[in-house]
Amino acid sequence: MQVVPPWREPVPRDRTMGEPRARGRFGEYGGRYAPESLVEACRQVDEAFREAWADPGFRGDLARLLAVHAGRPTPLTPARRLSDALGVELYLKREDLTHTGSHKINNVLGQALLATRMGRRRLIAETGAGQHGVATATAAALLGLEATVFMGERDIERQALNVFRMRMLGAEVVPVTTGSRTLKDATSEAMRHWVGATGDSHYCIGSVVGPDPYPWMVREFQRVIGDEARAQCAAELRTGVPDHVVACVGGGSNAAGTFAGFADTSARLVGVEAEGGAGAARGRLGVLHGCRSLFLQDDDGQITQAHSIAAGLDYPGVGPEHAHLRDLGRARYVTVSDDEALGAAVRLARAEGIVPALESAHALAWVIRAAGDGDLPAGSTVLMTLSGRGDKDVSTFKELL
Ligand SMILES: *Cc1c(COP(=O)(O)O)cnc(C)c1O
Repeated sequence: MQVVPPWREPVPRDRTMGEPRARGRFGEYGGRYAPESLVEACRQVDEAFREAWADPGFRGDLARLLAVHAGRPTPLTPARRLSDALGVELYLKREDLTHTGSHKINNVLGQALLATRMGRRRLIAETGAGQHGVATATAAALLGLEATVFMGERDIERQALNVFRMRMLGAEVVPVTTGSRTLKDATSEAMRHWVGATGDSHYCIGSVVGPDPYPWMVREFQRVIGDEARAQCAAELRTGVPDHVVACVGGGSNAAGTFAGFADTSARLVGVEAEGGAGAARGRLGVLHGCRSLFLQDDDGQITQAHSIAAGLDYPGVGPEHAHLRDLGRARYVTVSDDEALGAAVRLARAEGIVPALESAHALAWVIRAAGDGDLPAGSTVLMTLSGRGDKDVSTFKELL
C-alpha cells in the first residue's frame, strides 16, 4: 500500500485538469479500450461534445436547465457549530439540495442535452444504488427521451424505492443477473447493450470512468460544482481560497468537478474513499470498462468486488484523472471506514440539521479525523462537497438509533 505523505512543498498549480492528452490520456491512465463499434461511437460522442462545449448556445441551454430544473446554484453553507467543535472553518457545498438529491443531475442533464443534439432518442445507463438511474430517468422525461437502466439484481432488491422512482419516471429497469449482480456487472451489461444500439442511443455514464471521452466530459459537466464554489469562497471566506478542498470519491465525479474549480490555486485537494472501495489509495494498474486506471485486484489481476456501506462508493476502481492527480501529488487520497462515516453522518445531522448521504459522510469523517490528529491545522479553512442527501440511506441509519 502506498502511503501518501502530507504536502511538504508548495502545491503545484495549473498543471492539471485541462483537456486530456491525445486519445484521452491522463498521464499513463485513461484511453479508449473498447470493441471496434464502441470506439466509433465514443469518437462520435467526443466530436459532438467538443462542438457543444465550444458552443455558447449549448452552454446557455444547459445553464438554464441547471437553474430552472435542478435548482442551481447550490448554496455554500458555513457549518458553524461543527466548525467550533473541530477548530477549523468548514464550509459545505450543498449538492444535496439539487433536484433528485445529488450531484448526479449535473452530469445527466449535460449528457441528455448532448444526446438530443446528436439526434439520439434513448439514454442507456448503469446504476448501483439507483441515484444515477433516477437522475437519468428524470433527464430523459424532461427532454422527451426514452431511458433504459441496467441494474444488478441484488441492487434491485436492496434499492426498491429508487427502482420504483425510475419506473414512475417512465424508465425501463433491466435486471442484470451475471457475476456479483451489482454495479460492475450492470456497467458491463450496459456497454454490451450499447454495442447493438449506437445508432439511436446514447450511453450516459454516471461517473468520471469508462472510455474516452467520458472521464473528461463528465468532469466538465460536474465542473459547475467547483466553479460555483470558487466564486462563493472568494466572496465569503476569510482566506478567499480554502486551504483544503475535500470530496468523497467513488468513481470520482463530484470530487473531479469540485477539484476542477481549484486546480490552479494553492488549495490542497483531498479525495476520500471508502476503505473497501479505495481504488486511488490502494488500487493497481488495470483495464476495466474501457479505461486504464487503478483497480482493486487479487494476486491474479482479477478485479475484486468493492465493499462499502455507501452504495455509491462501491466501485472497485477510480477514474483515470484521479489516478493521475495522485501520481502528480496534486491531490491526496485517504480512506475512511464504514463506522467513521456513520458517526460523521449522525454528527452532521445533530450539529447542523443536515442528514447527508452516506457517501458524503465519508468526506466529513476525514475532516473530523484530520481536525483531531492535526492533519488539518487548527484554523484551516475547509471546503467540503456534500454530494447528496441521506434520505436513500434511512434504512441503514435506522440500525444506529
Ligand atoms: C454516486 C454518488 C457518489 C459517488 O460518485 P462519484 O462519481 O465519486 O461522485 C457520491 N455521493 C453521492 C450522493 C452519490 O449519489
